[in-house]
Amino acid sequence: SFQDCPRYSKALVLLTVSGGGFLAYSGAKSFFGPDSSLQDDRKRVIVLGTGWAGTTFLKNLDSTQYDVKVISPRNYFAFTPLLPSVTVGTVEARSIVEPIRNIIKKKLGNVGFLEAECYEIDAKNKKVHCRSTQKTGLEGKEEFIVDYDYLVVATGARANTFNTPGVEEHTHFLKEIEDAQNIRRNVIDCFERANLPNLSDEERKNNLHFVVVGGGPTGVEFAAELHDFLEEDLSRLYPQVKDFVKITLVEAADHILNMFDKRITAFAEEKFQRDGIDVKLGSMVVKVNDKAISTKERSTGLVQHIPYGMVVWSTGIGTRPFITNFMKKIGQGNRRVLATDEWLRVEGEDCDGIYALGDCATINQRKVMDDIAAIFKKADKDNSGTLTVKKLQEVMEDICERYPQVKLYLKNKRMKNIVALLEESKGDDNKESKEFDIERVKTALSAVDSQMKNLPPTAQVAAQQGQYLAKCFNRMKECDQNPEGPLRIRDEGRHRFHPFRYRHLGQFAPLGGEQTAAQLPGDLVSIGHSSQWLWYSVYASKQVSWRNRLLVISDWGKRFVHGRDSSRL
Ligand code: FAD
Repeated sequence: SFQDCPRYSKALVLLTVSGGGFLAYSGAKSFFGPDSSLQDDRKRVIVLGTGWAGTTFLKNLDSTQYDVKVISPRNYFAFTPLLPSVTVGTVEARSIVEPIRNIIKKKLGNVGFLEAECYEIDAKNKKVHCRSTQKTGLEGKEEFIVDYDYLVVATGARANTFNTPGVEEHTHFLKEIEDAQNIRRNVIDCFERANLPNLSDEERKNNLHFVVVGGGPTGVEFAAELHDFLEEDLSRLYPQVKDFVKITLVEAADHILNMFDKRITAFAEEKFQRDGIDVKLGSMVVKVNDKAISTKERSTGLVQHIPYGMVVWSTGIGTRPFITNFMKKIGQGNRRVLATDEWLRVEGEDCDGIYALGDCATINQRKVMDDIAAIFKKADKDNSGTLTVKKLQEVMEDICERYPQVKLYLKNKRMKNIVALLEESKGDDNKESKEFDIERVKTALSAVDSQMKNLPPTAQVAAQQGQYLAKCFNRMKECDQNPEGPLRIRDEGRHRFHPFRYRHLGQFAPLGGEQTAAQLPGDLVSIGHSSQWLWYSVYASKQVSWRNRLLVISDWGKRFVHGRDSSRL
């Protein structure tokens, strides 16, 4: 445990399959094997996943202290924020991936990689069961088991279809590099089909109807990229059919980009309207077949069948099946997402030494609410049950700093109770000394519980968690050797490691036409061309290697000079 070193001294397993055995199922010996454990006392860490969380953990881990194995079906890291750009060729797929072995090569100590997927976690016996994703050549030797001391589970999430019939079969997801490449090919397919001589105008129109389901950042960015591609490149190359093209964005809620500031939401909706992108708000997709998508209007119940050429499904994420099975085994069967505490330790039976981070897990909000209650308790020093406005404001600032979602909800006035309480004091001459009943504030804040939900499933959260966990791991040995610990953590009840705290660094929503909306720290909102340049600089600087940085910048340059490549490769 991060709270007490002796528990930490147990094995560390990263949800990468490291360690254990490259056993053929028959019981071959472990990867970490008895020999290596005799040679030194380094703990075996298995990291499952080579995405944002797993890779950031790996990059920041002092690998000389552990025996590390990374297990993932993907032998590369992918810079997902640029995936929508790959769908239309603004950047090339290979420019945004970095081979995981390039990263491992730079690590000191014993670090290895196995290209396989974990299909079962045996927490009781500290083993992960894995299967190679190679299609041929292994003849019955695909499966193996790896032992761990510490397991880091960073396997991300899968696209969520909400069990809508026909979605798996007929729509495109946008989660992986392959998805983006398939979409790119399919867009061109639609144009080449629509351009064939024997089609009626109606058929051309249907083939060139692009439907995007989901008005979150990914759906909106894809719709914007597609619109730019059509306007800037395809309309020149397919002049005969350009007037048949239509993009529809379907969103079940009342607005797109719900998690952004209201000004950004409004700007995006207006811009899409100007661009001719049909935004269907308050519409749920109820069925998809090979020719049409069926939507139901929430307010009227009206069902419409809309013919399409291509549908991209981007409605959020769901839990991977092997994680759901694992949750059942450890007593989390009644939850939807794997829960951890604020030290990213998985809660449940036999979960000692198992950590989960990124999109595959969530920090248990019960703890967050306890934390908020503790902040109020601390503020109410004299136990009077009341707080002055000034103190209340300080407390709210503290809470907002720790939990940026609260800040956003307050700002958007979605937490009406609290906003009303804070505004009650406005214009009041005695506002400094006016007192509020803490219980009243807490009742209002309990709305946070249902509204705040979890940390957003973003690369920013995953990367910060990976960095945090690596720092804790790097200090574990020091803690073991010095159980008394530094002064700061000797007191009873204090934690040896700080709990994970998310720092929101802002968020972008590219809207096409070289315009981006940016919600920056300090609640600054910037929309337009200048934010687009900020977006270019941030995303260039965030690339994981200089190779990626140069490739991405050169792709942007090529696109400015020559336009995007419309070959169907
Ligand atoms: P992932 O990055 O998904 O990595 C999961 C890893 O686990 C992968 O390597 C996968 O192969 C591996 N894996 C899967 N199953 C197994 C298994 N059974 N065993 C072992 N390994 C397994 N976030 C932002 O902050 N800003 C953005 O602009 C942004 N844009 C996005 C655009 C798109 C199109 C998408 C899809 C996402 C975007 N995100 C963005 C979200 C961000 O990509 C995710 O939040 C982030 O990838 C989560 O990181 P992760 O490490 O948890 O999961």
